[in-house]
Parts: sequence; structure tokens; C-alpha cells
Amino acid sequence: MGKILVTGGAGYIGSHTAVELLNSGREIVIIDNFSNSKPIVLENIKKITNKDFKFYELDYLDREKLEKVFEENKIEAVLNFAGFKAVGESVTKPLEYYYNNVSGCLVLLDTMKKYGVKKFVFSSSATIYGIQKSTKYVEKMKRGIPTSPYASTKIMIEQILEDLYKADNSWKIAILRYFNPVGAHESGLIGENPKGIPNNLMPFIQKVAIKELKELTIFGDDYNTPDGTCRRDYLHVVDLSIGHIKALEKLESSENGVYIYNLGTGTPISVLELVNTFIKVNNIDVPYKIGKRRDGDLDEFYAEPKKAKEELNWVATKTLEDMCRDSWNYIASKKD
Ligand code: NAD
Ligand code: UDP
Repeated sequence: MGKILVTGGAGYIGSHTAVELLNSGREIVIIDNFSNSKPIVLENIKKITNKDFKFYELDYLDREKLEKVFEENKIEAVLNFAGFKAVGESVTKPLEYYYNNVSGCLVLLDTMKKYGVKKFVFSSSATIYGIQKSTKYVEKMKRGIPTSPYASTKIMIEQILEDLYKADNSWKIAILRYFNPVGAHESGLIGENPKGIPNNLMPFIQKVAIKELKELTIFGDDYNTPDGTCRRDYLHVVDLSIGHIKALEKLESSENGVYIYNLGTGTPISVLELVNTFIKVNNIDVPYKIGKRRDGDLDEFYAEPKKAKEELNWVATKTLEDMCRDSWNYIASKKD
């Protein structure tokens, strides 16, 4: 069996998936340019799994260096986590986002084609649904109107992958639409710790909990939800990572094609529910106030996860308490 190439494997979701891949007995190769991660993550993946892997520090837009990875390793499939992911930043830096996410993915796919590697798992997002009539998103819904350049990059890549398969049906492609990944590995060795002031809810809560930030502002409590705060489908990053293993197995055992799955719990959780669970589970204070709505936020959206259950035999098993406990455990024990 060949190796699995994990692009962006030093990042938040890539590192957790690398752990699950190694634990399931796979050989992996990681590439990353550390634009949003640190080399220590690689050491921590090795510590958790007690396994080794090859790593290349490179930008996946660098075709020459990327080809070397395919020359030097028998790659069987690629899991593509590399890319920029900050929705707000994408509005102010659209060219950087299109270049890194879309052009990068094109270079990667073209290189895969050159080396005859045709199994691909792509990190997509619930953001591709845009605004829909129902807040429960089902895979068969059409992709919506993008709400940011970031969302556009995901929509474009999904389209590119479908076009690619139409043109050459020897590909096996999985598009995984993540909802809101949170939490960390239970060891506390890997997790999410964004630079600067976080945009996302859980990293913000973590920074308030360790007193790096004074208080959380909840963006509006007048939404059309039971407690007035927005509801999202938070899922534990380890569950999400296991979803990738299942998707890979699905590609290996299925006919060629493009397979699309939502990865979420199917349960919407409000901002207040998340904050209060974090406070309760960790017995720690997280001061918060209610502020104004944030531009572009939807009242609620969550996954219909039935397809992943039926076809991948995947369900999210970790609870909201697990997500809150592991998020705190990681941030409280962070040393770098
Ligand atoms: P992350 O920023 O933690 O990880 C991405 C990794 O890719 C980083 O280590 C970064 O250094 C690397 N990278 C970026 N550009 C690169 C390049 N040109 N060459 C090589 N390496 C590069 O992000 P994440 O949260 O782990 O997200 C992974 C993927 O999942 C992204 O594509 C993201 O859009 C998608 N996604 C994330 C979320 C989320 O909430 N975290 C939700 C939906 C989809
Ligand atoms: N949110 C908040 N305060 C913050 C960050 C986020 O109240 O400092 C809310 C936000 O309005 C949304 C929810 O938390 O309703 C999840 O936001 P996040 O940015 O994490 O995910 P997304 O909106 O992309 O689903």
C-alpha cells in the first residue's frame, strides 16, 4: 500500500487527521509551509502516536518541490487541508485567498494527475450552502451564493473537482463539508491556537478562559432561535478526523466518482449553550456580554448527517462536554 499525502498536516484539522491515519496503521507524508502552524506540531503528532513520518516544508504552489514529494514517495491518495480559512480576512485579501486555495489546489491536482494519483479528499465547508430555505443542510441542496471570497474558493474547488471527474472518470474524490470543528486531542498536545484575536467562537472562549482576553462578546441575542443567540453544529475535531479515515476507506472500496458528505452532529447548539457548558464542565469563569450582531451571521444552520452515517458508517460520538473539556485542556496546558 502506498502512502497518504496530507497537505497542511501541521494545521488544526490536518494534525488530528494525521494522528488518526497513523493510529489506523497508514503510512503518511506531511507537507506544510507553516503559514498558519508551527513545527512543534509535528513532534507532538509523533509523541501521541509513537510513529514516524516524512515531512517536507514547502508551499504546495511550488510545483517543482511538490513533484519531488511524488518522485520520492509512492503516494496513493491525497488529503488536502492546505489553504487559508479566515472568512473575514478573505474579504480584505481576496487575491491571496484565491491564489492559495484555488491555484494551490489546481497545482496539487495537476501534479497528482501527472503521477497517476487519483484519490483525493477535499476539506470543504458548510459555507458552500450559502443561504438556504431550510437551516438543516442536506448534500443534495445546490451550492448557494458565496458570502465571502473564502466561501467562493470552496465553491470553486467543489466545481473544479466535479468537472475533473466528468472529464476523466478514473478519479475517486471525496468532498467533505465540515460544520464547526472545535475541541482538541485528549492528550492536550495538539489543538487550535490561532495567532492574534480569534474570529471563531471556541478559540475566543479559550483565550478569555486563560485570561489572555478580557471578555467574550456574544454577537446578538435577538436571533430567531430558542435563546436568541445563533445556533451552529459544533463537532469534535477527533470525530471529524475519523470521518476522513472513513472517507478514504469509502474511496478505496467504491467505484470511481465524486462522493459528497456533510460532517456534523446534526444538533444545533447556541452560543449561550456552548459558553455555559464550557464554564460548567471546566469550572472556570468566562466573562461575557451581549453585543451587536456580526455582519453576515445566519440565525442557525446544522448538518443533516444521515448520508455519512449510511454510506461511511460515520457518526460523531463525542459530546458537547467533551468538546469543551478538551478545548480547555489543550489551551490550559499549552507551553509554546
Ligand atoms: P489551519 O490553518 O489550522 O491548517 C491549514 C494548514 O495548511 C496550516 O498548517 C498552514 O500552514 C498550511 N498551509 C496553508 N497554505 C499552504 C500552502 N500554500 N502550502 C502548504 N501549506 C499551507 O486550518 P484548519 O482549521 O486545519 O483547516 C484545514 C482545512 O479545512 C482548510 O482548507 C479549511 O478551509 C477547511 N475547513 C476548516 C474549518 C474550520 O472551522 N477549521 C471548517 C471548514 C473547512
Ligand atoms: N460568535 C460570538 N462571539 C465571537 C465569535 C463568534 O458570539 O467572538 C458567534 C457567531 O456570531 C456565530 C457563532 O458564534 O453565531 C459561531 O461563530 P464562528 O465564527 O465560530 O463560526 P461560523 O459563524 O463561521 O459558523
